[in-house]
Amino acid sequence: MFASQVGIGYAVTCWNPGEDKVKTAALIVAAGRGSRAGADTPKQYLEIAGKSVLRRSIEAMAVCPSVASVTVVIHPDDAERYADATQGTFTKLRRPATGGATRQASVRLGLQELREIAPDSVLIHDAARPFVPPAVVERVVGALRTHIGALAALPVQDTLKREAPGGLIAATVDRSGLWQAQTPQGFHYASILSAHERAAAQGLDDFTDDAAIAEWAGLDVQLVLGSPENRKITTSDDVVDACRRLESTMGMGWEPRTGTGFDVHRFAPGDSVWLCGVRIPHHARLEGHSDADVALHALTDALLGAIGDGDIGQHFPPSDPRWKGAASRLFLADAARRVAERGGRIVNVDVTLLCEAPRIGPHRPRMQAEVAEILGISSDRVGIKATTTEGLGFTGRGEGIAAMANALVLLPIA
Ligand code: MG
Repeated sequence: MFASQVGIGYAVTCWNPGEDKVKTAALIVAAGRGSRAGADTPKQYLEIAGKSVLRRSIEAMAVCPSVASVTVVIHPDDAERYADATQGTFTKLRRPATGGATRQASVRLGLQELREIAPDSVLIHDAARPFVPPAVVERVVGALRTHIGALAALPVQDTLKREAPGGLIAATVDRSGLWQAQTPQGFHYASILSAHERAAAQGLDDFTDDAAIAEWAGLDVQLVLGSPENRKITTSDDVVDACRRLESTMGMGWEPRTGTGFDVHRFAPGDSVWLCGVRIPHHARLEGHSDADVALHALTDALLGAIGDGDIGQHFPPSDPRWKGAASRLFLADAARRVAERGGRIVNVDVTLLCEAPRIGPHRPRMQAEVAEILGISSDRVGIKATTTEGLGFTGRGEGIAAMANALVLLPIA
């Protein structure tokens, strides 16, 4: 029975880019003191293979195409640690929220902090789960299309015993239908915010996770399949264990894949062109069924090429009226989703535009930021270059623009 519910969780992740209007915010809870890890530093700031647990958790959420923004709830004493842990560019990261005395209070304060961006849904995630695979995040997001709440969880595998006084076994507990809760736990934003505020108003402060608050408030929470990889860092042994696993994963468990893409669109009468998701005033437009963003089309094909998953024309046929005038970022986001669904990570992408005009240089920073945001990577992983063809050929004659692209993706070795 539960297995079929998990099946639903999978099924609804089938994605129609035309419907992707839902704004999903990630809220990472990092306000705990985490003394169990046995160090002076709270466990979320401990380093695993040169990177803090928190930074890894932020990256794990930010890399997911469905996640529009990431907010971290921190302890008031940790501002400096947080600044250290988040150095560099995270395009999706918002300023941190300050937590409270309990995990429950911290989540509530974090949810209240999200009011100003008013997301449709929120994914509440423990900072201590830095290895959550993108596929698990996308399953939770997918289930939120049909449920108010969704929880990543694993069926209990071990036999369970109930203890009697003196350390004797009182009973063997039937494990069928029992699941271990993980995070992220996703909810429609307004519903979980209201549940948290009502619980606080009634002085209820001992819920151990957000799904428990949702249950108390009578909200539907769907179980979706988590992952054994999504383990929690609780003790110093977990940190050592995570370092070991990561080192072996970095050497053995991933294989790099590259893909290339190429596209051409011709000029037609108009006043602007779309390139890398940016509208640039020009004395012509590019002709095409969608917005004719030749650069995003080449990038989309490069990503699809890297994972051997057909091409843009196969997934979004020009003959399909749904894609008439469509923003090409939908195509690129769909390719990123396909990478995430395979458990893959985008390392970098690189695009070269071939045209005499318009000039690309002034628009490069915005183009990098757009592509980085669509793909959920930092903008230093996005190359944008342009060249003329010295007046030669169709680009030289100003008849159209060509773009070539490549992408590097890491896929888990099956
Ligand atoms: Mg095209």
